[in-house]
Amino acid sequence: MVRKSTKKIKCGNRFIGGDSPISIQSMTNTDTRNINATVSQIKRLEEAGCEIIRVAIPDMEAAMAVKEIKRNISLPLVADIHFDYRLALKCIENGIDKLRINPGNIGDVERVKQVVSRAKERDIPIRIGVNAGSLEKRIVEKYGITPQALVESALGHIKILEALDYDKIVISLKASDVGLTFDAYKLLSERVDYPLHIGITEAGTVWRGTIKSAIGIGSLLLSGMGDTVRVSLTGDPVEEIKVAKEILQSLKIRNFGVNFISCPTCGRCQIDLEKLARKIEDELSDLNENITIAVMGCAVNGPGEAREADIGIAGGKNSGLLFKKGEIIRRVSEDKIVEAILEEVRAMRTDFHGGK
Ligand code: SF4
Repeated sequence: MVRKSTKKIKCGNRFIGGDSPISIQSMTNTDTRNINATVSQIKRLEEAGCEIIRVAIPDMEAAMAVKEIKRNISLPLVADIHFDYRLALKCIENGIDKLRINPGNIGDVERVKQVVSRAKERDIPIRIGVNAGSLEKRIVEKYGITPQALVESALGHIKILEALDYDKIVISLKASDVGLTFDAYKLLSERVDYPLHIGITEAGTVWRGTIKSAIGIGSLLLSGMGDTVRVSLTGDPVEEIKVAKEILQSLKIRNFGVNFISCPTCGRCQIDLEKLARKIEDELSDLNENITIAVMGCAVNGPGEAREADIGIAGGKNSGLLFKKGEIIRRVSEDKIVEAILEEVRAMRTDFHGGK
C-alpha cells in the first residue's frame, strides 16, 4: 500500500498529512457548554488513544467554553461550526487548534475574510467538511447525490479559501453510503493534495457502524488515501477510538500493541478456546508492545500459526503445545495455558527492555 503524498499541516501539537502518522480523532457527544462533562469525556478519549478531538459549537456559550476546555486538556481541539462566522472568530480568540467550517456557507465574503485572516495569524487549519446530506441545491440539481456532487462542492469551498491565499486545508467528503464515499474521495484525491480526513458518516450503532467503517475506511487506506480517521458510531465515542485503532493495526499502518490471532474453532478443537482467547485478550489489552500471539485450537493449522507468532498455543486434548519464536517450549494442561502465555509475555518484555 502506497500512501498518497499530501500537504503536511500543523494542528495544535500534531501534524496531519505528509509523512505524519495517520491520526485518530473523535467528537464529543456532551453538551460543549457543560465544561466538566466535556473535559472528562475528552480525558477518557485521550486515555483510549484519541489524538485530535472535536466539539460542536452550536452557540456563543459553547464558543466561550472553548477557553476553559482548552486549559484542561492536552489534545488538539477542533471547533465544529455551521454557518456563523462569529462563532469561528470567538473560538480562534479562545485558542482553538482547528476549525471545521465550510467557507461557502458563511455568507458574505467579508465574513470569510475575517475568519481566514485570524486563522492565518494563529496558524490554524480549516477542515472543509462536505456531507452528502447537506449539499448545495444547485449541485444536487446538476449531479444528483453522486461522487461528482461531493467533489464539486468541496472544490467550491477550496476555491474560496485559495482565493484568500489560504492553504492550511483538510478535506472530508462524507456519506453514509460506503461506495459513494469511496468514489468521492478517489475523485477528489486525483484533483488536490490537501490532507484527507476520512470516515463513513452516520455509520450506525456500534456493531453495524464498525463493519461499515472498517470496510469504508479500510478500502480508502488500502488505496493510499486518508491522513486522519474518524469512526462515527452511535454510542460512547471511546468505541470509535477502539475501532479506529483496530482498523489501522489490521492494515499494519500503526501499531497499538498486541496483534492477536485466534482460530474460529471447529470439530477438531478439544479445549475451550473461546474462553481462553477472551481471557488472554483481556489480560493483555493494556499491553503496548509489538507482540503477535496466536491461540489456535488444534494440531491441523495450529502449529503453523503458533510457530509464526512470537508466542503461540496449539490445542490438543485438554492441553496445548506452547510455542515461542517458532520453537516448541512445552506442553501445558488446559488450566495452565493462560498463565503460561502470560509468563512468556512477561519474559519477552524483560528481554525487550533489558531486564528493566
Ligand atoms: Fe479447527 Fe484446528 Fe483450524 Fe482451529 S486450528 S479452526 S480447531 S482446524
